[in-house]
Amino acid sequence: MSSDQVRYLLHVCCAPCASASIERLTERGEDVTLFFSNSNIYPHQEYLRRLAEVERLARIFSVPLIEDIYDHESWLRWVSGLEDEPEKGRRCDRCFAYSLRRTAEKAEELGMQQFSTTLSISPHKRSASLFAAAEGLDGFVPDDFKKKNGFARSIALSREFELYRQDYCGCEFSKRASQRHHTRSQ
Ligand code: SF4
Repeated sequence: MSSDQVRYLLHVCCAPCASASIERLTERGEDVTLFFSNSNIYPHQEYLRRLAEVERLARIFSVPLIEDIYDHESWLRWVSGLEDEPEKGRRCDRCFAYSLRRTAEKAEELGMQQFSTTLSISPHKRSASLFAAAEGLDGFVPDDFKKKNGFARSIALSREFELYRQDYCGCEFSKRASQRHHTRSQ
C-alpha cells in the first residue's frame, strides 16, 4: 500500500451492516478506517453491545476502528420536534445528517480524503435520502452498499461470524415502534 493512497473513513452503524461493506471496500483496495459514531443509539447499554461487536469485526478484518464520543442528549436536541415521525421519515433524514457531519469532521481532522457510511446497506434506509443528507460535505463517496446483493451478503457474514443482530434501528423511537409491532403480531 503506497503512503499517498487515498484513505477512506467508513461510518459504521453496526457490525452486521459493516461486515459486507468492509468486505466490499477492502476487495476494492480501499485503505479503510472504521468510525463508530452513534449518539442516536438508546439505551447506552445497547450502544456498548453494538460497539463490542464492531470491535470484534474490526479484529476479524484487521482494520482500525475509532470511537466517537457518545452524546445522546445532543442527538435528542438535534431531532427535537420529530420524535413522532415514522422510520424513513424526516427524523431519520436529520439523524443521517448528524452522523454524516460528524464523520466528515473526523475525516477532515485526520486528513482522510474520503468517507461514507454503512447505513446504505439496509433496505430500511433510502440511499437517495442518505446521499441528500451528505450534500455539501467534502469527501463524501456515495457508495450504495445495498447494490449487488449487499444486504444478503451482510446476513450471510453475520451468520458466519455469529454477529449480534438487533431488532430495532437504534433510537428510543424506533425501539418503541419495534416493540409495538411485536406486540401486535403476537
Ligand atoms: S429510526 Fe434509526 S435512522 Fe431513524 S432516527 Fe432513529 S436511529 Fe436514526
